[in-house]
Amino acid sequence: EQDVAGYRKSMAIRVSGFDVPRPIKTFEDCSFSSQLKNAIAKQGYEKPTSIQCQALPIVLSGRDIIGIAKTGSGKTAAFVLPMIVHIMDQPELAKEEGPIGVICAPTRELAHQIYLECKKFSKLHGIRVSAVYGGMSKLDQFKELKAGCEIVVATPGRLIDLLKMKALTMLRATYLVLDEADRMFDLGFEPQIRSIVGQIRPDRQTLLFSATMPGRVEKLAREILSDPVRVTVGEVGM
Ligand code: ADP
Ligand code: MG
Repeated sequence: EQDVAGYRKSMAIRVSGFDVPRPIKTFEDCSFSSQLKNAIAKQGYEKPTSIQCQALPIVLSGRDIIGIAKTGSGKTAAFVLPMIVHIMDQPELAKEEGPIGVICAPTRELAHQIYLECKKFSKLHGIRVSAVYGGMSKLDQFKELKAGCEIVVATPGRLIDLLKMKALTMLRATYLVLDEADRMFDLGFEPQIRSIVGQIRPDRQTLLFSATMPGRVEKLAREILSDPVRVTVGEVGM
C-alpha cells in the first residue's frame, strides 16, 4: 500500500472513492487482447500516461469514474481502450441494435478526433464507429446510424435530434462517456446531456472527464454516476 501511495505521488495522481483499484505501470498490466496490444504499440504508445495508469484499471473493473486532467494528458485512450474491451465482452453483439458505447463531446472537432482514436482501436475487432455532429448531413447520419454501429461519438444537440428521428435506440447502450464536461456546460449543453443520460439504462457504466470541475459539473456527476472513483492528475483549478 505504501508502494501504491508513493507510485501515485510520483505520477501526480490523486484518488478518492471506495476501494480504488491500484494503478498499473505498463499496458501489459491490463487484460488487453493481443490485437489491442498490437494496436496500442502501432500508435507508438510505449507506456501509459499518468491518467491512463490510474483510469484504465478503474474503468476495466467496471467502475464509474470522474477523471480530471489537463488537455494533452491522454484522456481519450483512457476511455476508448476499456470501451473496446467492454464491447468485446458483450455476449451477443448482433442480437439487439443501437450503440453500446456512447461518447458525448462539446464540439465537432473534438468529436471527430475521438472518432479517429476509436477507429484506430476498433478496426481489428470489427466494431463499427459512427460520428454525428452538426455541419454534416443529418440524413446521411440518419442512414449511417440505421445501418448499425457499436460506438457513437456525438455532439449533444445532434445526438438528441437523431434520437428524436429514431435513427438509433439506446437499448444496447451500457457505456457512456461525457468528455470535456466543463466545456459542454460552458456551451449550454447541460439540458441535452441530461436528456441523453435519461435515455440510457441506469445500470450503465458512466465516465466523466473534464479539465476543471465547476460546481454545476460536480452536481451532475453526483446525480448520474454510481459510486465513482475520482482521479485527479497534476494541479487542476476550478
Ligand atoms: P486529452 O484528451 O487529455 O487532451 P488526448 O487523448 O487528446 O489528450 O491525447 C493527447 C496526445 O497524446 C494524442 O496525440 C495522443 O495520441 C497521445 N497519447 C495518448 N496516450 C499516449 C501514450 N500512452 N503514449 C504516447 N502518446 C499518447
Ligand atoms: Mg480530450
